[in-house]
Amino acid sequence: MINVTVAGKKVLVRVDFNVPIDKDQMITDDTRIRKAVPTIEYLLNKNATVILISHLGRPLKKLLDDGSINRKKFSLKPVANHLSEIFETTVTFVSDCIGEEAIKACRDAVPGSIILLENTRFYKEETAGDIDFAGKLAHYADVFINDAFGTAHRAHASTAIIGQFFDKKQKGLGLLMQDEIANAQKVLNSPSRPCIAIFGGAKVSDKIKLIEKFINFADTIIIGGGMSYTFIKAMNGSIGNSLCEDHQTDLAKDLLDRADQYGVKILIPEDSVIANDFSNEAEIKTCLSNEIPDGWMGLDIGPNAIQTYKSALSSASTIIWNGPMGVFEMSNFSKGTMSIAHEIANLSSKGAYTLVGGGDSVAAINKSGRSEDISFISTGGGALLAFLEGKKLPGILAIES
Ligand code: AMP
Repeated sequence: MINVTVAGKKVLVRVDFNVPIDKDQMITDDTRIRKAVPTIEYLLNKNATVILISHLGRPLKKLLDDGSINRKKFSLKPVANHLSEIFETTVTFVSDCIGEEAIKACRDAVPGSIILLENTRFYKEETAGDIDFAGKLAHYADVFINDAFGTAHRAHASTAIIGQFFDKKQKGLGLLMQDEIANAQKVLNSPSRPCIAIFGGAKVSDKIKLIEKFINFADTIIIGGGMSYTFIKAMNGSIGNSLCEDHQTDLAKDLLDRADQYGVKILIPEDSVIANDFSNEAEIKTCLSNEIPDGWMGLDIGPNAIQTYKSALSSASTIIWNGPMGVFEMSNFSKGTMSIAHEIANLSSKGAYTLVGGGDSVAAINKSGRSEDISFISTGGGALLAFLEGKKLPGILAIES
């Protein structure tokens, strides 16, 4: 339930429609759109007027050669069309989130209708957290609902700054946001044990804080992906040309020591699939992760690591997964990630509580065709990590303060 009176009101909803769209304007994964449906449905059932705002990609970082915004590539128009299909009604699309057209569309909209405004990131004021820009958006509505968990860790104009234009009775958290918070809190506050966290991906520096936090309460931490090699180097292993953050090896060593003191197991892949080039066409072989020859790099966890990880996971009651086990975008290095995805789904269907977050892990679960088996798929990557680290997210604070 949304804790604000919305019946018959104009409600501005910050959603996260940052979905992948291909060059033919087709949405290739609509998870984030489907996750926003319950809040929109709730508001329509209350006869509210629904005004949706979102960002899509980073249009100002990827300008066209002539320096202009690529309005086609970063347009939310395909999302409006998709919403029209989902709700079997015409969703009005407004081609600029600021200005006369948007003011008129919001003013004239009738209860029970849906409007989607164009990408907020067409304006530099959005990421700058500009107060005037936030005020212009706020002006469209009586009530503000934040349902964009995926961007709740950013203090942007439409996610956080906008909150100050509404008093406490005029703003609230959407149903998705509530669900995201409840699931992350479930892991943090009362995980059913054993609790196993699986962290992968490229950089250890992005996940150091999280690993530190989980050492305090997880029973086992499984490490995979490129960041494994920083740990292996920290243990004096030979990692050839594998990804490594040399300045993090001391910290990695310290984490291993601390885990030891707390009685938490940290599992590092014992073997790896290695390649002589960062390419799906490269020569590949399998070897121990601490004996990778020069000129070769570890691009996936090896078969023994997969077996070890599966057997560690078999006893888990709670599993949280963020980050791929290898360069899963290339078929020759996707086996580790896909095996873990299937295993998590198997354990989930047998009763384990499973939380998967982060674009790559969610993509792997979707690719496995087992997403229905997962207890909760988070729409947050960075936001989920920040929440689990214990940070207060600006998008949530803006509603609660
Ligand atoms: P992150 O954003 O830190 O979660 O990292 C995700 C990226 O890490 C994906 O694009 C993977 O291809 C990449 N990745 C995973 N394992 C490796 C590896 N062993 N070497 C290089 N990149 C990797």
